[in-house]
Amino acid sequence: MTLTLYNTLTRRKEPFEPIDRKNVRMYVCGPTVYDLAHIGNARPIIVFDVLFRLLRHLYGEKHVTYARNITDVDDKINARAVERYPELPPTEAIRKLTEETTAQFHKDIAALGVLEPSVEPRATDHIAEMRVLCDELVANGHAYVAEDHVLFAVASMPDYGKLARRSLDEMEAGARVDVAPYKKGPMDFVLWKPSKPGEPAWPSPAGIATPGRPGWHIECSAMAGKHLGDVFDIHGGGIDLVFPHHENELAQSRCAHGTPVMANVWMHNGFLQVEGEKMSKSLGNFVTINELLETTNFGGKRWPGEVLRLAMLMTNYRQPIDFSVRNLETAEKLLDNWYRAIGDVEAARASDFLAEVEEALRDDLNTPAAITHLHTAYDAVRAGNEVDAPARFKVAANMLGLLLSGETEWKKAQSSGVSIDGDAVGKLIAARLAARKAKNWAEGDRIRDELAAMGIQLKDGKDPQTGEPITTWEVKR
Ligand code: AMP
Ligand code: ZN
Repeated sequence: MTLTLYNTLTRRKEPFEPIDRKNVRMYVCGPTVYDLAHIGNARPIIVFDVLFRLLRHLYGEKHVTYARNITDVDDKINARAVERYPELPPTEAIRKLTEETTAQFHKDIAALGVLEPSVEPRATDHIAEMRVLCDELVANGHAYVAEDHVLFAVASMPDYGKLARRSLDEMEAGARVDVAPYKKGPMDFVLWKPSKPGEPAWPSPAGIATPGRPGWHIECSAMAGKHLGDVFDIHGGGIDLVFPHHENELAQSRCAHGTPVMANVWMHNGFLQVEGEKMSKSLGNFVTINELLETTNFGGKRWPGEVLRLAMLMTNYRQPIDFSVRNLETAEKLLDNWYRAIGDVEAARASDFLAEVEEALRDDLNTPAAITHLHTAYDAVRAGNEVDAPARFKVAANMLGLLLSGETEWKKAQSSGVSIDGDAVGKLIAARLAARKAKNWAEGDRIRDELAAMGIQLKDGKDPQTGEPITTWEVKR
């Protein structure tokens, strides 16, 4: 039996054959760490985790390398850092913001039952590799230097636009009139740009004297090349990344390395909308993963991460999802039934139910069909005729990253929403008291809001003995 995957490059489902069965390699574009991850960002994390689990199952745990990057250099990051930490020098503010946001991202997705990727490269650790790519592209005529920028010369690549299926003529005709004057072609894109004072800056490539910083696309070419090689198996991300991000990534990588492809299979998850509308702050339907897990803002209650995971997998990964409280309620009810049926049993090592789930997933990750098989398996468990049915059911659900714990843990997760990390709360409260002592009211308020978002309510008072300010906290219900 083969695994078939839909390839955006060919617009077809194709049998998957890894370049090297001993090392199946997948790269997925990770978050830009300037803000809390929202539930749309959770979709590629969950979808490609299912694929990672399936590949490990098919080829062996040691024979799959999954790289998911952290983008920690970006104009949005620079702007947000200065806004949030005006008192710090910009580079320190940027470091603080990216470190905090990355830690929060890890905490949020840990609740979603995802395996850690094999490597999680950070863009700022790969600047040297980006410079090498820029130099190679300039040297072989695919890029040029203009006004301290390095630009990719789109006209130098005859099949530019192949992934997105856009012709260069069309794209150029549609390009806006305010194209930077130093560009030779309107679609030429930035590989490297000069930094203004206060912006992160590194020595520039291609003989440019002014220090600068990388463009967005070059990061992923450098990180994928370093960790997975010039050509690898699968490249994934959300559908919004097809153009320009992935088109430009593959242009850079192919032209630098002289290879016909960058990755053999390009996979893209569909977009997530909330209650029928695009998620946006102005519409008030912007939901972060953290809010869903730790506050009652969405649907009046906290949701265990596993509920979000199942709700997401009920829709095929390529379809858009219209996310709603109802999806979450349905998923929670199912998990409730399933956990009650399996109790705290250990999963079997293999089972007939697992074989059915695996078959559904081999068909381009058909998770709705896999869940249908779980319903049938659950019926068998409930019928109670076979003592080993719960263990056989559990191993099948595990393939989707579901039912990883037992009923006892599930009940705990449900009653407390997500368990509150008392140490972390204590540290935040101490940081807030310190900020208030230093009369940094804005920072104090920001920490209070951060805690409120975690469902923690603060009460300020004075120590009756010493008169020192003290803060107590409780969980909002
Ligand atoms: P970003 O941090 O915006 O670069 O996004 C990180 C990942 O989340 C990328 O793979 C995006 O394609 C994906 N993504 C962003 N918004 C959504 C959404 N509403 N639905 C599904 N995927 C999304
Ligand atoms: Zn990328």
